Amino acid sequence: MTLRTRFAPSPTGFLHIGGARTALFCHLHTRHYGGTTILRVEDTDIERTKQEAVEAILEGMRWLGLEPDEGPYYQSANSQKHLDIADQLLIAEQAYRCYCSKEVLDQMRDEQRASGLKPRYDGRCSKLKSAPSPDAPFVIRFRRPKVGEVIWQDKIQGEVRVRNDELDDLILVRSDGTPTYNLAVVVDDHNMGINLVIRGEDHLSNTPRQIQLFEALAWDVPDYAHMPLLHGEDGAKLSKRHGAVSVLSFREEGFLASAVNNYLVRLGWSHGDQEIFTTKEMEELFDICEVGRSAAIFNSDKLLWINSHHIMDAQPEDLVDELIYQLKLINIEDVDKKRLIEIIPEFQERSKTMVEMAQKVSFLFVDELPEYEPSAAKKHMKIAAIDPLSELTKRLESCPEWDIDSIEKVFKSVLDAYEIKMVKLAQPVRVALTATATSPGIYETVFMLGRLKTISRLQAGVIFLEEKAAATE
Ligand code: GLU
Repeated sequence: MTLRTRFAPSPTGFLHIGGARTALFCHLHTRHYGGTTILRVEDTDIERTKQEAVEAILEGMRWLGLEPDEGPYYQSANSQKHLDIADQLLIAEQAYRCYCSKEVLDQMRDEQRASGLKPRYDGRCSKLKSAPSPDAPFVIRFRRPKVGEVIWQDKIQGEVRVRNDELDDLILVRSDGTPTYNLAVVVDDHNMGINLVIRGEDHLSNTPRQIQLFEALAWDVPDYAHMPLLHGEDGAKLSKRHGAVSVLSFREEGFLASAVNNYLVRLGWSHGDQEIFTTKEMEELFDICEVGRSAAIFNSDKLLWINSHHIMDAQPEDLVDELIYQLKLINIEDVDKKRLIEIIPEFQERSKTMVEMAQKVSFLFVDELPEYEPSAAKKHMKIAAIDPLSELTKRLESCPEWDIDSIEKVFKSVLDAYEIKMVKLAQPVRVALTATATSPGIYETVFMLGRLKTISRLQAGVIFLEEKAAATE
């Protein structure tokens, strides 16, 4: 039997990190065993559904590389199919019309509570032979089995048992004629041939009800895997309160999709003591049955650590689009992709995030440098550097070739002439060229920046120092 899994988000907001984890686990398990992933947008709750939210979910999945093999299918398009099944159950007397008003239901629950019972529908309409009045509003309820229990072998939770008499006669169709979540999900899962449902533990209480429905309809019951929920560092269920929970905001913060996936896969799953996984390795190794049952804790330091490893290990070609995206965010546009690919290796070890990388490369692309970082200027822009710096400027200007070796020779000749150590020259040069005290190797920095920009920034550096000298006289 070929595996068919689905990711079934309700489009009520963006793709949050918990949803992304569900999508990832579906994707990886299905890739490992060979099968088809399906995206089903559960948009039956029309009022809360926003097209932008659907777009945001799709964009998030695309960015993470979790595009489904099939879909998106929209649940709302299947409403008639859901209602037809409700009718079929009515005809077979496996469902019945319930005419109880809200007041009646409230009273029923109050009485049950008062006598120490668990509040639930008491099934009084299940025995009605006809409607109380011809146009009385009604819901359709499932006539659940009263004895026995629902048992399933959850791939994460192990064996789960729920007694049928603990459950309610579930509403299948609301009084406005719309199908409910549990009906829609069962009909869609069946029609789409889903044989493994991977979803959050928050749906555990729906599963026995859905299994009852599958059984009433004599349909094959899918396998289930209910994933432990994600918690914030404070132990509370992960929410917007915990900061950047939309996957796209992780992108904005400079995380790589592969690192986010790697981080998420380690929340609940492990393979020996390996921490860093390529997407391909995850697809080969991941098995939903190996996911643990304890709640996963979101830890942003660990994500950052994984991200820096992914940046370090990546091919420049795989980083360039994210770098272009980040550069745009700081208003650096139209950069040459080939040139970026050439310079990226100089920055991989120094950047924990792509935001950092964009900041570090930005000196190469801006026409005008921002002001020198005050601490860098204070520490390295010393008046004593005026002469070596202006001499270096002259010699670089007339340097016949522009390559690392020639640049190195020019630097060495200035060091010899002034009998100074490298740091006394390299650091003021670095500040003059990048406005910061850190950059790749100084020859590489000069080389990448090119002759024109190097000369004019060194000249500006000399002027800066001369003004400083004049001010202290
Ligand atoms: N639409 C549900 C949600 O977003 C998921 C339903 C399911 O996986 O069965 O929580």
